[in-house]
Amino acid sequence: MTTLPEHTRVLVIGAGFGGLGMAIKLEEAGFADFLVVDKGDDVGGTWRDNTYPGAACDVPSQLYSFSFALNPDWSRSFSPQPEIQAYLRRTARAANVLDRFRFGVDVRDAAWDEEAQRWQVSTSAGDLTADLLVNASGALSEPSLPDIKGIEDFGGQVFHSARWDHDQELAGKRVAVIGTGASAIQIVPELAKQVAHLDVYQRTAPWVMPRKDRDYTKLERFAFRHVPGVQRAYRTGIYWGRECFVPGFTVNPRLAAPARRMALENIERGISDPALREKVTPHFQIGCKRILISNDYYPALDRDNVDLVTDPIAEVTPTGIRTADGTEREIDVLIVATGFHTTDMPIAAHVKGRDGRTLADAWREHGMTAYKGTTVNGFPNLFFIVGPNTGLGHSSMVFIIESQIAYILGAVQAMGERGITALEPRAEAQAAWTADIQRRMRRTVWNTGGCASWYLDDHGRNTTLWPRTTFKFRELLRRFDLERYDALPRTSDTKETAA
Ligand SMILES: Cc1cc2nc3c(=O)[nH]c(=O)nc-3n(C[C@H](O)[C@H](O)[C@H](O)COP(=O)(O)OP(=O)(O)OC[C@H]3O[C@@H](n4cnc5c(N)ncnc54)[C@H](O)[C@@H]3O)c2cc1C
Repeated sequence: MTTLPEHTRVLVIGAGFGGLGMAIKLEEAGFADFLVVDKGDDVGGTWRDNTYPGAACDVPSQLYSFSFALNPDWSRSFSPQPEIQAYLRRTARAANVLDRFRFGVDVRDAAWDEEAQRWQVSTSAGDLTADLLVNASGALSEPSLPDIKGIEDFGGQVFHSARWDHDQELAGKRVAVIGTGASAIQIVPELAKQVAHLDVYQRTAPWVMPRKDRDYTKLERFAFRHVPGVQRAYRTGIYWGRECFVPGFTVNPRLAAPARRMALENIERGISDPALREKVTPHFQIGCKRILISNDYYPALDRDNVDLVTDPIAEVTPTGIRTADGTEREIDVLIVATGFHTTDMPIAAHVKGRDGRTLADAWREHGMTAYKGTTVNGFPNLFFIVGPNTGLGHSSMVFIIESQIAYILGAVQAMGERGITALEPRAEAQAAWTADIQRRMRRTVWNTGGCASWYLDDHGRNTTLWPRTTFKFRELLRRFDLERYDALPRTSDTKETAA
């Protein structure tokens, strides 16, 4: 049974890259009083939960890792999930922070107590208070289940890709995968090899580029470990290579023409049947939805035991799936690879700010917004890691996460040094930040590329992605800008800087 203290100075929700990185940096900076809670049973977040066959990162591991904990032992360029999860565990152990973590603790509600100037937090393991709350509960953490007629009456097994049921023996079975996003295209090639028959249900064909994946040679791994600067230089090269993609997303989608060509060649190389080629060819601009990478997805669809179904699903029956044209395809197991709650952040309905409104209420009218993707007016001492408009279509989220951690650390330090008990960004600062982002969004491929995607909310606003380079994001968050905040108590010192 997990026990929680009555009070902690900083409470971090989530033990993925975000929460773990925050813990390591708080510890390094000498903070004695902080706690990380997670409803799961281990560190890792995304990489603890996504254990489906074929799970791997789609940003090279050299970049998809902490800058302060490089890993010379990655086995290949895009490492599989078990290696990433092992890396996160190892990093937590090496930093000696695991005693700060409490697992199996589900944060249910958090409410700002204006009188006490702290958060009242209710969890599955009891209540506690915290001066500061860092929400690192993940933007791709809560599975989104499809609302399909009859799905609850299906007689076989149903599970989401992020909650893989490893007790299910799939060899020799008839299986359906709903969805053709980032997880599905990793799962399909693995399933195709073992199941009797696989139906893949596609609503919109994604753009899929070849994946430049290979094992690292012994010599490379030796150099990464023993030759000073080699691994850092390699990582830097990958970083800048990826930043070159940004103009193709944000300035002129025509710059992405070479990528489009490579993706079309990927189809030709992977699929021999012209009708199937036509079905998998997207009809929107490349980059509008997340660009996927795979060498074996198209060949898997081309197999005799795999069907790509593009007729809309009408209903799930007790024994299979019926499409709008009336065809019923019988299956034993249904896997939904339908992504996550993204623009409707689940925790938002449970966090109440200064005036008793929830974050979900505050965001209802204008969509998710946060100053610098990190703080929200009306919600004192609340910080986000991977908050609104911090997601990326081209590079490593760990870069964004580390930028936010440094900014939050700056806030925590400023509060300590100046005796500030509560701070929140000024409404005008947040509004200006958001207006600038939405103005930049107008010409991006995400908004103009002719697709519907999980980047956009119900009103068509892109509240998930960062529309500039990642180095600009880092530059903008380099210093904690107290002058953009209302701070309490208003000592003469803070009045001056916060005025
Ligand atoms: C399959 C998959 C592949 C991906 N591949 C890449 C990639 O290659 N490159 C890349 O840059 N990004 C990738 N991402 C995005 C990835 O989510 C981020 O890179 C990163 O892992 C996010 O870390 P995080 O700490 O913000 O969130 P998460 O890793 O999602 O961790 C959030 C944690 O919060 C916990 N939590 C949530 N709600 C509560 C609550 N109420 N109470 C207590 N605990 C709670 C969860 O249990 C979870 O452990 C991928 C995502 C997925 C799903």
